[in-house]
Amino acid sequence: MTDQWKYDLRDSLEATEDLIERLGLSTREADRLREVVTRYPMRITPHVLKTIRYQGDPIWLQVVPTTEEMEPDYEMQDDPLNEEGDMVVPHLVHRYPDRALLFVTNQCPVYCRFCTRKRFVGSPGGTITPEAIEVVADYIRSHSEIRDIIFSGGDPLLLVDSLLERILSALRTIPHLEIIRIGSRVPGTLPSRITPELCAMLKTYHPLYMNLHFNHPDEITPEVAEACGRLADAGIPLGSQTVLLKGVNDNPDTMKRLMHALLKIRVKPYYLYQADLVTGTHQFRTPVETGLNILRALHGHTSGMAIPRYVIDAPGGGGKITVVPPEFVLEINAREVILKNYEDQVYRYPQVEAVPDAVPADDPARLTPLQRLPS
Ligand SMILES: *Cc1c(COP(=O)(O)O)cnc(C)c1O
Ligand code: SF4
Repeated sequence: MTDQWKYDLRDSLEATEDLIERLGLSTREADRLREVVTRYPMRITPHVLKTIRYQGDPIWLQVVPTTEEMEPDYEMQDDPLNEEGDMVVPHLVHRYPDRALLFVTNQCPVYCRFCTRKRFVGSPGGTITPEAIEVVADYIRSHSEIRDIIFSGGDPLLLVDSLLERILSALRTIPHLEIIRIGSRVPGTLPSRITPELCAMLKTYHPLYMNLHFNHPDEITPEVAEACGRLADAGIPLGSQTVLLKGVNDNPDTMKRLMHALLKIRVKPYYLYQADLVTGTHQFRTPVETGLNILRALHGHTSGMAIPRYVIDAPGGGGKITVVPPEFVLEINAREVILKNYEDQVYRYPQVEAVPDAVPADDPARLTPLQRLPS
């Protein structure tokens, strides 16, 4: 039972021949994909395979390679977010003031065709070593501004419990490191990995958060719901990150169903990412307007809990920037803010007076009428 995930991983599709047998591709189609898979590895777990309903459906598009991955596109780059540029010691990206991103492995249970880290996932030798863990821990120890670390990759939950625990315990000796986050697609792609033993181990390293990765409501199967339930029962707050993908989830109805399905399994939507400019993924790009329309369809129409933040990770390494439909705030000036609600009605919110702090709270000057304010 505990080791079932290792068998599931072993039984995953990795060779193009598997696609002929298991997914009904012709020999000729499979042959054309051999070169793609040599450059960008494929892996499809039995669980994900089971959720594919037809050729080209939203699950298929995420995991089955296409020759489009090899088409050149001058706007795309291997490392568009310049993560290598912000790598301070091997495996550790320190870009923001108070938090850092740690690549603990480059292995994943499925290799998503749209992956931002397509440049390094799936190749051999990308898992952190005990020596590298020490170097990372030393860096964090000497940077007291880091209060939040995010395990990423690759997929951190593909590490065996003992290695994962080794990293967790090394970092938990650092007093200023307040929270640890794990970013993982494993609960959705290899739910058998979420064993009671793993959950029991993780809960000894609180405060621990997890941000999972889901793109389509068909990914939320009963097994996935159970896996997320085990993590939630271990007291781990669960968030979800979603990538806006053409043909997969680029419409308000699918997105709303996904967000509701996530809340039902105790996963709170966190980010909705505009697709990064990664070489070999141009076929998934949507106009930013598509994302804005999805936000327009969610805001006000459903629970605020169901609404992720829509972000563009700035090309070149500028970090995540939140994008909202511009008409939500029509105008801000010293006197008022003009807002538009989800029913397209316009509202005016008067600003508090711009009175200097030096004026005491009970001074009548604080009650200056609106028209006396500078405009
Ligand atoms: C996304 C990201 C983080 C975490 O960002 P949050 O907005 O705090 O979730 C940290 N470091 C890097 C390099 C990132 O890309
Ligand atoms: S699970 Fe995450 S890191 Fe792995 S291939 Fe998919 S998107 Fe990339």
